[in-house]
Amino acid sequence: LAIVNRIKVALRRPLMLHGRLMSVSASVGVAFAEPATDVDTVLRNADVAMYEAKEAGKARHAVFEPAMYSAIVQRLQLESDLRQATGDPLRAALQLVYQPIMHLDTGVIQGMEALLRWQHPTRGEIPPTVFVPVAEQTGAIVALGDWILETACAQLVQWRTMWWRERRDPSTLPMMGVNISGRQLAEPDFVAKLEAILARTGAPAASLTLEITESVLMSHTEDSLRSLQALKALGVQLAIDDFGTGYSSLSYLQKFPVDVLKIDRAFVEGVHHGGSDTALARTIIALGKTLGLRTVAEGVELEAQQRQLQAMGCLLGQGYLFSRALPPAALTHWMRTRRMGRLRQ
Ligand code: C2E
Ligand code: MG
Ligand code: MG
Repeated sequence: LAIVNRIKVALRRPLMLHGRLMSVSASVGVAFAEPATDVDTVLRNADVAMYEAKEAGKARHAVFEPAMYSAIVQRLQLESDLRQATGDPLRAALQLVYQPIMHLDTGVIQGMEALLRWQHPTRGEIPPTVFVPVAEQTGAIVALGDWILETACAQLVQWRTMWWRERRDPSTLPMMGVNISGRQLAEPDFVAKLEAILARTGAPAASLTLEITESVLMSHTEDSLRSLQALKALGVQLAIDDFGTGYSSLSYLQKFPVDVLKIDRAFVEGVHHGGSDTALARTIIALGKTLGLRTVAEGVELEAQQRQLQAMGCLLGQGYLFSRALPPAALTHWMRTRRMGRLRQ
């Protein structure tokens, strides 16, 4: 490790390039050769350790361990499985499930959020928090995202048709929320593709809410501002997902044409205890009111949380208290039985 440090120090020395002072840093992978190992294996092991060091951050070093190798193999396998899945997501056992979003005051469903599930053929269910970032890094999310949007819009049209037949109430027709990754938003033809999907499925633009996380908004300001404005012109709604977890800044809330704030589950968790979660949730709800935005509380699990949120003026909520995310047929059933439950009251 003394050697690693000497390498790092030597590389850190600034150098002049075209009249500018530049400095470089290095990620170092270390592998020890045992008498029986050949050169290729040692180099491969050092490479694996170097990737591990890179993952950990800038200018780090890592010493090879066999477990690193299997982690990389697993990840490469995941990447290639995801790339293949883009061709035929259903065959690859990708599926959309839908979680209802409720009016907290009336208990009527306002819409649903589409959430991706993957029942991997050999590894079992892999959570989206694990595979979506991988799909983002490899770009597979772009093709998958098209499929997600198309599937969710088609499903929404079915539910709106059913709603209209059974309720005849145009003021409560459900909306659909779809999560969009930064990678999709950065695609130059994203808006055109979305427009085509809306046309093909017949979903009204105003019934679609695109959910974008705060960190994505913050990191791609210039380009994403242009895409967001084009999306607004199409008539779709925009939501900031996981609000409160990123670098919330008031100036960007004014700059971006958003309609909805989704209060992160982290603040909903302790909202009924009257501590800092309550104060933060209250501030976000007040902020939403001031800016004329709808607020949705994420991860509502308890009636006490619902009551507190409602008392603070939060309009909408989603969470296990109402329902988990369900496959389409199960949510249809849920909507029908829940309505009957309400009529019986
Ligand atoms: P998100 O968009 O913030 O989604 C909300 C997450 O909270 C979902 O997790 C949902 O199942 C979970 N949740 C809802 N109610 C409760 C509750 O009462 N308690 C608890 N503990 N959790 C609750 P999920 O489905 O695992 O998704 C995680 C994240 O993965 C999503 O966070 C989203 O960022 C991403 N994701 C999911 N589907 C997609 C997709 O189709 N496209 C993209 N780009 N990202 C997706
Ligand atoms: Mg979301
Ligand atoms: Mg969220």
